[in-house]
Order: sequence, then C-alpha cells, then structure tokens
Amino acid sequence: MEQRTLRVTGRLGLHARAAANLVRIASRFQSTVTLQRLDNSVEADAKSILSILMLAASRGTELRVAAEGEDASAALTAVLDLFARDFDEPEIARHEPRDSIREEIRCKGLGVSAGVAIGRVLRLQDGTRDVYRAEIDAADVERERRRFRAAVRLSRRQLDSIKERAEKELGRGHAYIFDAHLLLLDDAKLTRDVEQYIVDKRANAEWAAKVVGDRLLSIYMQINDDYLRERGSDIEDVIQRLLANLTGEGRSQPKLTEDAVIVAQDLLPSTIAELDLNHVRAIATDGGGWTSHMAIIARGLGLTAVVGLRDFYRRTRTGDQIIVDAQRGEVILNPEPASIQRYEFTAHSRAPSTGDEIEERGPVVTTDGISISLRANIELPTEFEAVKRFGACGVGLFRSEFLLSRPGFLLSEDEQFEAYRALAELSGSDGAVIRLFDLGGETGYELSERPERNPALGLRAIRFGLKNLTVMRAQVRAILRAASFGHLRIVIPMVSDVTDVMRAKKIIAEEWDTLRPSSASLRPQIGAMIEIPSAVLTADKIASEVDFFELGTNDLVQYTLAVDRGNVAVSDWFRTLHPAVLFGINRTLKVARANNISTIVCGEMASTPAYVVLLAGMGAVDLSMTPASIPRVRATLRQIETAAATDLARQCLDCATADEVEALVRNEFAQRWPQLFPPQALPPEETTN
Ligand code: PEP
Ligand code: MG
Repeated sequence: MEQRTLRVTGRLGLHARAAANLVRIASRFQSTVTLQRLDNSVEADAKSILSILMLAASRGTELRVAAEGEDASAALTAVLDLFARDFDEPEIARHEPRDSIREEIRCKGLGVSAGVAIGRVLRLQDGTRDVYRAEIDAADVERERRRFRAAVRLSRRQLDSIKERAEKELGRGHAYIFDAHLLLLDDAKLTRDVEQYIVDKRANAEWAAKVVGDRLLSIYMQINDDYLRERGSDIEDVIQRLLANLTGEGRSQPKLTEDAVIVAQDLLPSTIAELDLNHVRAIATDGGGWTSHMAIIARGLGLTAVVGLRDFYRRTRTGDQIIVDAQRGEVILNPEPASIQRYEFTAHSRAPSTGDEIEERGPVVTTDGISISLRANIELPTEFEAVKRFGACGVGLFRSEFLLSRPGFLLSEDEQFEAYRALAELSGSDGAVIRLFDLGGETGYELSERPERNPALGLRAIRFGLKNLTVMRAQVRAILRAASFGHLRIVIPMVSDVTDVMRAKKIIAEEWDTLRPSSASLRPQIGAMIEIPSAVLTADKIASEVDFFELGTNDLVQYTLAVDRGNVAVSDWFRTLHPAVLFGINRTLKVARANNISTIVCGEMASTPAYVVLLAGMGAVDLSMTPASIPRVRATLRQIETAAATDLARQCLDCATADEVEALVRNEFAQRWPQLFPPQALPPEETTN
C-alpha cells in the first residue's frame, strides 16, 4: 500500500466539481484509492463522488491518501498532483474569493402582495408530484430494478444534452456542475443502495430512490460547512430528476422549515394548496402576473410574494439566504449583512398584522351617501377566518375549484357538501356566492388526459362542466343540499352567451327537482360571470335569464386585450385601465341596472383603491375582493364623492389608450385626493427603455 498525508488547500474544499475531477483521475487506475480524514477517521472511496462529498472536507482538512494494488504508486502520484493543482478547477472557481461566489444578487419583479420577508430558499420544481410507497411481489422485483436502471439511463441522456448546451451557452466553467450530476447518477453508492432497497424491502423504484436520496441528503445537511452543505441541492436535483423520470410525477412533499421562501419557475395553485402555508414566509417565482391565481392566493393569505422574476429560479440553491420585498417588487439573494440589517428593521415594522380585529363591518358609505358592499373572494378553507376578521359582507366569490387539492383528483359529493355547508354557516345572513368549478385554463386543475393547445380558450369553466355532467351534477347537488344551512348563490363561470346559462340552469333545475328539498328551502339564486367579450356584448340577453351578474375583471382584461394573464413576456400589454376594458365594465353595469339585477365586481380591480374609485364612478355598488384589501378599500371609498368619481370615469371612457387613462388618473387623483393617493398608490408613469 502507498500512502501520504496532505491538507486540502482549495478555497471551496472538496466540493462537487473538485470531487468529480478526483473521481475521474482515481478511476483511471486498477488500485483502490481511499481518503481518510485525520481528525475523525471518516474514510472515503476516491472513485465514488458521494463518498467523497460525505467526507465534507473543507479547506484546511488533513487527509491520508492511500492506494493499494498493482498501479498504486502511479495512482497515488496522479491523485497528489491533482490536489497540488487544486483539482484543475476552472479559473473562475479557483480565483474567485468565496464571498463573491455568494455575492448579493438583486432581481426586479412584480410585488403582488404586501410585506417583506427574510428566509431561506426552498426550490420547488415544476410538474412534480407525490411519491407513493407500493409493496411489490417477489416476481416484480426484477422489473422494478429494470425500471430504475432505465430512469438512470434517461437521466444520463438528459444531463448529457443539458451539459452540452450549457457548455455552448454559458462556457465550460458553468457546465462543470453537470459532470458532478452525471457522476452522482453513476455512483454505486446511490444506484446500488436503491436497487438493494428495492430487493430488501420489496419497494417500488420511486420509493426506494426517495428513501435513499433522503438518507443521503440528511447526512449531507449535517455538514458543518456552509458552502459544502448548500451543495446538497446537487444531490436533491439528481434525485428529483430520477423521480421525475421514473413516473413523470415524482416530487416528494417538500419539507418546510420555519423560514422557507418558496422559489419556483411557476407555481400552480394546486401546488400552493398542498403546501403547509404556516411555514412559508414568502414566494418568489419567475412567471406569473398580478392576476395569476398564484398572486391572488398569496394576497388572500397575506403571504409576501414577488412574481415575474424571469430568470431567478436558475440562480438559486435550496438553503440560500433571501430577502423578498413585495413592496418594492424586489428579491435579494445572498444579501450582504448591511442589507439584512436594513430589512430586519423594515420586516418588523411592516409585518402584516394577523390578530387584529377589524372594528367596522357591513357596507361603506361614500360622502354623498352611496352605500357599497364589500365582500370577500376566497379560494381555500384557510381563508374562511379572514372573511370575519376583515369585516366582509359575506363571500362574493368562492373559487370552488381550489377545493380540488390535487390535479386530477375530485372530491366526492359529500365532501363538497361539507365544505359548502361550512361556507354557508360562516357567511351568515350576508351569504356566499359559489362559483361552479372553473377548471382548466391556468388553474392547473386539468382533468383531461390530453393537454390542450390553448387552455385559456379551451375546455374551461362551464364548458368543462357541460361536457362532464357527472362532475357538474355532483357539485350542483352538493351546493343545493348545503343551501338550507345559509344563504348560498351559484354563479356560472365564463359564459359565452345565454345558451351556456340556459344549459347550466336546466341542470340545476333538474337536480333541484330530484332532491326535493324541504319546502322551507329556497332555490339559490343563479348568476353569470361576465368576463369574456361575447358575454359583455350580449349582456342584455343574459340579464333576462339570471338573478345577478358577477364581473370577472381579470379575465375580462385577458380576453378583451388577448393577453395571457400569467405570461410575463406580455405583461406590458395587460392594461387594466385600457379604455376597451372600461367600456366592457361600464356596459355590463348599465345593462344590469336597466334589467334590475345586481352586479358584483370581483376581479383584482376591486382590490385596488385607485381602480375602485373608477368602478364606483361607473355605478358599481357591490365589490368582492381579497379579504386583506377590504380595510384599504373601505378607507378610500368613505372619503370619495361618487359624483366626482363619475365625472372622472366619463373622461376615462373617452380616452383612446391605456396610457391616456393612466395619465388622467395619475394627475386627477393626485389633485383631487392627494391625501388618499400618494404617487405610489397610482399607476406608475410609462418608462421607455
Ligand atoms: C376574474 O376573472 O376576474 C375572476 C374573478 O375570476 P378568476 O380570477 O378566478 O378567473
Ligand atoms: Mg375569471
């Protein structure tokens, strides 16, 4: 046996890239090559990247390197040379001081809720699902092992091509990390253990990969060196890839720590619904816009959130420190101590209050005596409590599809009944409007097998219900049964014209007849969501068939302007104050008045004080919003004279472009109500780059 002792001198210690180089060199020789820490005697096989990483050898660690076999001497020389050359690290890694590798990075996005939060990144990957445990027959063990090997092969092919692309686009220095991922994938410590687990425990391959991966990660997380510990996300990445390739649905439920800040490319509402939100401090996503459902839920839950960060996810690692400033629409990754100090103060002084009871309830009255109802939009049962806390006049919109907590997973009629009954009881005499499932679109609650080419224009909302009558009838029955426990109304989402309304009403009537509820119960009122242009244009025909309208301004903007509400690339075109949108709103309100029916305005416009003034100016007297916005909207409306708002709304309706309307709003509001609208509460001035 040949052996020598040495000290690790590389700045970053034996991290993944260095370890990858060591494995490559050691594997060229027949001899076994081992490394042993002198301080704690932990030993590693130099041909296994995982084994080397587990050594956690940071700079300064003393090691004994030993080689045994025919070519031991040459092997030892080659390995010692590599240590002397600091592992052939690319210039970028060798010369960069440690601090600059973790340098502060600031990214601008769109703050969609209030608050500032400081925490640690938890990366969530897209399209990943729960891992389940299945007991398998002895005869199937071989099949599971083959499946696992196939997933390893597929992951290797993917990583090869990612590496190739990264080399071309980012340079060799950045592509190096994928070498480490490839080696992790080939490491017997991982692959052998997974296969062994399948055999010993008769477990399915997904479960085996998850258990072995978690075991490795938990050992890694105990490493006493910040930089090396954070590289645990390399292991996490590889395991996630394997899981995804095994079934196409392989994410385990993330373990949330107290200070978790979820960072994702996009976050489906269904994923948010699955998270234990008590442990989430904030959310930061590459995609999304003000009216994406992710943003709506974050606001509803009072979660600090910044969306539209474009290329941020890629730059983060699980465990990185992060500040999310939703006020300024900014995130700061690896903040400098001075930034943290500044924000600790702000986070403390601005933290949204959670326990304060709001004294005022019921409608707000403007200075000229117009009474306006303020209701709550809610998505998740966790928000029920907020309805009372913020003094809402009941629930103006219950987005029932959020009850389906997982994609493709429907609740039974009885389970739905329980939820609707709770809603009826909670909302008391003010009542609640339950929207029939608005499935499809960007909600992520796809129930169809095949993805649609254009989901926003596809089998969404009532169209889905009318094509899936078992689903629709079960929901209708659940609502009708729950209606005897309070004041429930039903609203039909995304109607194109009166035909959709008639068809939906027929189904509701049939279910009402079959249920034959007690004579004491009244059949719930039925309304139509007006949120696509064809419904606006035929609103008079729809009005004669419904008890009320519900104006969905989020979709009205999306469909009137043909701008995907969740696509950052076109967010500049998502202009709530576009005259065409205002025209649609104004027309709908007028038609409702002419037909003696009410209109609840329930899109995000109704949560924003400056927009609310214009809505009141067009005659809106029933608004439904994110509960946390109610106090601000109330404070605004009670200081407004609707006659002045009407005058302004008229001027806006005469404008040609969104820019013109915004300029008008900026100037007029600042002059008329300077105390209510400081510059940051008004639409920002266009900046031309
Ligand atoms: C809307 O479109 O404005 C609306 C209230 O519904 P959702 O945001 O759920 O589509
Ligand atoms: Mg809508």
